[in-house]
Amino acid sequence: MTAASATTDAQGSPHPDLDLEFAREKYRRERDRRIRPDGATQYRRAAGEFGYYAKDPYTEWTDRAPMTDRVEVLVVGAGLGGLLTASRLKEAGIESVRLMDEAGDVGGTWYWNRYPGVRCDIESYVYMPLLEEVGTMPSERYAPGEEIRLHSVAIARHYELYADALFHTRATRLEWDERSDEWLVETDRGDRFRARFVVTSSGTLTQPKLPGIPGIESFRGHTFHTSRWDYGYTGGSADGNLTGLANKRVAVVGTGATGLQIIPHLGKDADQLVVFQRTPSTVDVRDNRPTDPKWVESLRPGWQRERMENFLAVLAGEPVETSLVDDGWTATTTLQRQILSGAVDSSLDPVEREIRDELADLATMNRLRARVEEEVRDSATAEALKPWYRYMCKRPGFSDTYLPTFNRPNVTLVDTANAGGITRMTETSVVVGDAAYEVDCVIFATGFEVGISGVMSGTLPVVGRDGRTLLEAWAQGPRTLHGFSSHGFPNLFHLSAIQNANSVNFAHILLEQAEHIASMIARGREAGARYLEPSEEAEDEWVRTVHESAADNRRFQAECTPGYYNGEGSRTIAGASYSPGPVAFHRLLRAWRDDGMTDVLVGAEMGVSR
Ligand code: NDP
Repeated sequence: MTAASATTDAQGSPHPDLDLEFAREKYRRERDRRIRPDGATQYRRAAGEFGYYAKDPYTEWTDRAPMTDRVEVLVVGAGLGGLLTASRLKEAGIESVRLMDEAGDVGGTWYWNRYPGVRCDIESYVYMPLLEEVGTMPSERYAPGEEIRLHSVAIARHYELYADALFHTRATRLEWDERSDEWLVETDRGDRFRARFVVTSSGTLTQPKLPGIPGIESFRGHTFHTSRWDYGYTGGSADGNLTGLANKRVAVVGTGATGLQIIPHLGKDADQLVVFQRTPSTVDVRDNRPTDPKWVESLRPGWQRERMENFLAVLAGEPVETSLVDDGWTATTTLQRQILSGAVDSSLDPVEREIRDELADLATMNRLRARVEEEVRDSATAEALKPWYRYMCKRPGFSDTYLPTFNRPNVTLVDTANAGGITRMTETSVVVGDAAYEVDCVIFATGFEVGISGVMSGTLPVVGRDGRTLLEAWAQGPRTLHGFSSHGFPNLFHLSAIQNANSVNFAHILLEQAEHIASMIARGREAGARYLEPSEEAEDEWVRTVHESAADNRRFQAECTPGYYNGEGSRTIAGASYSPGPVAFHRLLRAWRDDGMTDVLVGAEMGVSR
C-alpha cells in the first residue's frame, strides 16, 4: 500500500478535498485570531458582584436547625454521581447515607440546566442510569432534560435518599478526627456533624462562568446565565413557547453545546435575536426520535448495562460484535479517542497513523462544513458558521434545528472572532468592534468553570491526618489511588475523571465509580477495617502508572482553536485520566476488587496493608 500523504486519502489515492497543508494553515489562522493573551483568566466567576448569575431561581430556601449528629456516609453532591453512590451504598445494606447539595433538590447538572431545549446529547438509553432498577424508559432517544431531572428524583425516592438529605447546603470544611476515626463536617448552614465516610461528587462543570467583558456590570436590561434560566421573564418552559420574548430584542452570547439547544427556541419566540459567536460549533445530524415500544418489548433483563458497556467499548476502540448505539458519537470514535483517552491503534506506524487520523478528521470536518452550506441560505452567514479546527478541539455538537434558525429574518449572527469576543457592554447595548447592538436582554450561554469542585479549588478545605490539607498534599498535582482516595485522608473518596477513567458518556463512568466506592466501603465494614486509606506505595505506583501511560496530546491541543479542552489555548492539559481508556480501567478495578482490595484496608483482620 502507498503511504498516505498530505493530499491523498487513506488508500493513497489523490483527493483534492483532502489537502492537509491547506487545512493546517487555515486552522492555524483561525486559531490565531481567537487566541487571547489573558487565556483562561478572561472569565469571571459568577460570585461576589456577579453572584446574581448563580442564584437558584428554581427552589425557595427554607430554614432548618443545624445538624449536630453522626452519619455513616456523607455524600457531597446530589447529581448523578452522588445519587448513584448513595443508591449502591443502600443496596449494600448501609442505611445511614446523607446526601448534601447546594441546589434545592437532586439532579446536579439537570437541576441547574433547565433552559429551553435542554436535552441529553448522549443517547438516553445509555446515559440515564438505573433505568431497569427504577423501572422507567425515556420517551425519546435523546431525552429532554426535565425527564432526566425527574429520573434523578425517582432514583432518590426509589432508594429513600430524601429522608436525610440536606439541600441548599454547602460543605465548608472537612476535618479528620484522629481519635474517633471520623470526619468532622462543617457547612454554610451552621451544621457541625460527624461522618465515618465522606464521598465527594461535586462535578467538574458546575460553577457558571461569565466572560470578562468590559462594562458587563453596567448593562441595565435583563440578563441571566443559561444554567439559571429566568422563565419569569421569558415565559414558556423547557419545551419552548417563550411568550415573554414576543416583543423583546434578545442577545445570546455563546454557541457551544448549550447555545445549539437554546438558539432555535429563542429564534422562534423572540422579536429579534442577535447571536454573538466567537467560535462556531460543529453541528452534526441529531436524528432524535420517540422510543419505539416494539424495541422496548424486545429488551431482556440486563439490557441497559450491556448497551452502556457496548457504547463505552465502541468509543474506546475495544472489539465488539455489534455496535448497539449507532449515532454521531459511534461514527467518529477514532477522532475522539486520541483526545479523550489517548488510546490509539499501536499496530500502525505512528507517522502513518497520524496522517490517517488527520485525513479522517478532515473528511469529517469537510462534511460538517458542507452541511452548513446546505442548511444556511445567506452565504456570508454560512461562511461564518463553518468550524475550522480539528474535530475534537471542541465538544462535538449535534442539532437538526440550529443551522436553519439562521434563515429566519429576525435572527442575526454577529461574528466576534476578530475582536476576541464581545468588545464591551453599555447600559443598553452589546458592542463588537465599532458596532453597537441595542437589546432588552442578554443571555449568557458561556459555560462553566472546568474542574472546579470545591476540593480542587480549595473552597472546601479538607484537613487530613496530622493537620495536612488535601491541597498541600496535592501541591505537585493530584496524588491518588485510582483517582478515588489519597494517603493521609482516610475514608474519603472522590468521583471525578482525575487519574480515573473518562468518556463522553460520563454518567456511565460515574456508575462504575459509585459501584467501586460502595464496594470498598461495604467491604471495609465487613472486614472490620478501622479505616480505608491507600498506602503510600500504592498511591505512588498509581500516580506513576497514570503519568507513564499518559497520552501526549500537547501538540494536538496546541494546534487547536482555544476552548476549555486546551485551557483556552494558553496551556496544554496533560492526560490527567487513565490513558489506556475506560474499558481497560474498569477491568483493572474489577481485578483489584477481586484481589481483596488490600491496598486500602487498614486494621482489617484479613489484610493489614501497613
Ligand atoms: P461552552 O464552554 O461549551 O461554550 C461557551 C460559549 O461561550 C462558547 O461558544 C464560547 O466561545 C462563548 N464565549 C465565551 N466567552 C465569550 C466572549 N467573550 N464573547 C463571545 N463568546 C464567548 O459552554 P456550554 O454551556 O455550551 O457547554 C458546556 C459543556 O456542558 C459542554 O461542553 C458539554 O460538556 C456540556 N453540555 C452537555 C449537554 C448534554 O446534552 N450532555 C448539553 C449542553 C452542554 P469560544 O468557543 O470561542 O470560547
